[in-house]
Amino acid sequence: MKVNGNCVGCGQCVAYCPSDAIIVLACASMNEKCTQCGKCIDYCPMVAISEEA
Ligand code: SF4
Ligand code: SF4
Repeated sequence: MKVNGNCVGCGQCVAYCPSDAIIVLACASMNEKCTQCGKCIDYCPMVAISEEA
């Protein structure tokens, strides 16, 4: 998963991830637990998350 500059660090995606894979400091990032399920992509209000190429 890739997080772009739209991320405002709101943290909403953390609660939504079923794999506890998202860490938000100034901006969200995903750890090794990420299963690429894509749920966070739909949930982010800032459209900041996309699949990595
Ligand atoms: S990726 Fe989206 S939902 Fe997650 S912290 Fe950033 S703005 Fe919020
Ligand atoms: S793709 Fe799925 S497992 Fe990975 S961070 Fe997003 S919600 Fe969590």
